Formats: sequence, C-alpha cells, structure tokens
Amino acid sequence: MRVQAPRGTRDLLPGELALWQRIEGLAREEFRRHGYGEIRTPVFEATELFVRGIGAGTDIVEKEMYTFTDRGDRSVTLRPEGTAPVVRAYLEHNLRAAPQPVKLFYFGPMFRYERPQAGRYRQFYQFGAEAVGTQDPAVDAETILIPFDLYRRLGLQGLDLRVNSIGCPVCRPGYREALVAFLRPRAETLCDSHRQSFERNPLRVLDCKDDACRAATAEAPSMEPYLCQECAGHFAAVRRYLDGLNVPYRVDPRLVRGLDYYTKTVFEITAESLGAQDAVAGGGRYDGLVQELGGPPTPGVGFAAGLERVVLALQRQGLGEAAEAGPEVFVAAAGAGVQEPARLLAFRLRRAGIAAATDYGDRSLKAQMKSADRVGAPRVVVVGEEEWARSQVVLREMATGTQRAVAVDELEGILKGTAAAAAADGSRRR
Ligand code: AMP
Repeated sequence: MRVQAPRGTRDLLPGELALWQRIEGLAREEFRRHGYGEIRTPVFEATELFVRGIGAGTDIVEKEMYTFTDRGDRSVTLRPEGTAPVVRAYLEHNLRAAPQPVKLFYFGPMFRYERPQAGRYRQFYQFGAEAVGTQDPAVDAETILIPFDLYRRLGLQGLDLRVNSIGCPVCRPGYREALVAFLRPRAETLCDSHRQSFERNPLRVLDCKDDACRAATAEAPSMEPYLCQECAGHFAAVRRYLDGLNVPYRVDPRLVRGLDYYTKTVFEITAESLGAQDAVAGGGRYDGLVQELGGPPTPGVGFAAGLERVVLALQRQGLGEAAEAGPEVFVAAAGAGVQEPARLLAFRLRRAGIAAATDYGDRSLKAQMKSADRVGAPRVVVVGEEEWARSQVVLREMATGTQRAVAVDELEGILKGTAAAAAADGSRRR
C-alpha cells in the first residue's frame, strides 16, 4: 500500500502556490507599510506555553493539540497558534528593552487536531501580527486594518468585519455574573458540552455554533453596558478610527473568540463565499497574556489569518488564477553533438539572471520546440552544430516565428533587452 499524506494535511503544488505567493507578497507589503518586522519561531514549543497562554479550559488545549513526549522526556506541542510563541520570544529576548510597541509579523504552519472539512485542516498556514507594549487603541485599529485592506486589495467580496469589546478583569466579572444568571434557568436547553460548563466559562456559550445554544442566548445581555469607563473609552476610540476611514463593520455582542487571553477589543473577518468555515482573520487585544507567561504586566494586540481560506475564497470568486512566471527563453539543441553546449549555454544564462529552460534527454528538435511552446517560453535559442562552430546560435521569436542568427557573446544582452544595437548587429552580420 502506498503511504498517503496524513488526514487533514495536504501537499501544495507549484500551480496553486503561485496564488499563495501573490497573497503572501501583498501581505508582506501591508506589514511593511504598517511597520512590522518578521519573526520566525519554532514549529514546536514546550506544551506548557500553550496551556498557560491559551488557557487550560479551551477547546484548543483540551482537544486539539498535537502533544507528544520527545526522546528527552519533555512534553512538546506543535504550535496551534502564533501569539503565545511570539510573546515567549518577546520575553526571552528582552524585547521590552527595545522601543515599544514591538511590532512583529509571521507566516507559518499551525497544527490543530480538528475534524477536517472544506477550509479546515489539521495543518494549516497562518499569517499574523502582534504589537506588544502599548495600550493605544490606534494599534487595535491597525491590526484590524492590515487584514481588511489586504483582502480588499486582493479583491475579496462579501467581507464582513465584526468587532466587540469583552472588557477587562475590572468589568468582565460583573458581566459574567449577569450572563450566568441569564443562562442558569436555560441550562437544560444548552448543547451537551455547555450544559455542564456554562458556569465555568459563560462567554463561550455566546460563541457556540450549536442551534440550541444560539436559540438560548438570543436575548442574552451584551457586554457593552457593563464595560468600565476605561474599556468603553477604548472601544469608542477603536471605532472612531474605523469610522474615520469609512471601514464598514458591525458591533457583534456575541463575538467573544475562543482563546482565554483576550481583553477589550476582539474582531473577526468572514468571507461570504466560504460557507461553514468562513473566518478569514480574527484577533484582538490580550493585555493579560505577557503576565500569564511570566513577564511584567504588558499590553498587546494582534491578529491571525488563515491562508487556505483566503485562497479558497479567491478561487470561489474566480480570482484564483495566478500564473507562475514561466521561463524567458528555452534553449534547444539541434543534434546530439551540441547537447552539452546547449545545456551549458542554458546554465550560463541562468547564472546571468535569465530564466532559461532546456531539454533533458535526447529528443528531436521538433519535440523540443513543442516543449518550449508548452512551457510558454516567448523565445527559443537553437544551438546548431554549424552555427555553434562559428560561435553563433539562432534566436527564434515564438509569437511571430521570425528567427535570426546572433553571436553567443551578445545573446545575454539581447535577452535582457539591454543590447538593442547588438541585436541589430547580429542580424546584419547574418
Ligand atoms: P484562530 O486562531 O482560531 O482565531 O484562527 C485564526 C484564523 O486561522 C481563522 O480566522 C482561520 O482563517 C484560520 N484557521 C483556524 N483554524 C483553521 C483550520 N483548522 N484550518 C484552516 N484554517 C484555520
């Protein structure tokens, strides 16, 4: 039996990766415009980092982590998300000593043992950003704008941006209590898992996708009237920034997000075309996380976005075409005697910065011309025995079928378009 890729994972091949690269390129540009520098953290971390950083009672930690004991008897976990690792690195490298906030972005695979379905994988790619060391609501707005503007530039339609504030340790307990009091008489109608756990984490019930939970919480109190002055002022400021840029958004009192470390601002962007797994970015403020991970009280805010979903949304909108750049020239050998010279010529052109394809094997010139056509090379250099003896080759323009002899020494300049005069010389000499 052949071994296949594990369930929930997949191979990405060159045809599809051209689109990934376009997205990644635009995302990098967006990060640079906003002043974020790249960070790469390990793919696995000490398990404790995620237990403390994400929260012991969360779905991710309870059910979804790829955790194993390594040969040194240490418990390690394939990272299920990027924020806790970035904050660990912030502390480990004493980035507190740098000018604050420290603004970092990342790209990379994440791992969660979830039930695979369209847009949901066990290994998936995220890009995201974290700004650590400032309370300023402008940075909350910034982390919302980065993915929002990126998706707009990509042409994604049907985007829905929802924002909410889930308060802070000062005001959330009051809301929590009110929510528990609201849920208690309705406990029997909640879904199986929340019937037991709603008192432990009542906010999660708001986020539950189960119909029973949704119905039970339709009239639930919202956080907004419970926000303390500080949190209310902060939320108002974030919204003023979005309003000031005419960014369309909705305040969604149900939006709480699944991770424990969020405070104040939370947000999510969904794309209409995606169906059940429609979140294309989410994030928020996490003023308690740095302390949770053993650092001094330090505020932070960030977002994470799923690349597979952005790709899928673009494909569903018919915007998935992104051709990989093909070769600029194909070097063909007309005869066995010039095979090695032809390949050497291709190697030399590559070293000179030209994307040069060539043939492998012993195929006829006709077959090689077909290959050149198939790979979309706009020009073919034919190395013939007689021309080669005179240090010349034949350069053919595929679009017009015209061809001329050119000196090997001048070929590089002609192909780079820096030797128009030489090209003319080449044709005159013929
Ligand atoms: P989260 O950390 O759960 O808020 O995830 C942030 C983003 O990552 C989501 O908005 C999705 O776009 C993406 N994402 C999360 N889980 C998965 C998954 N299992 N497969 C693919 N994308 C995911």
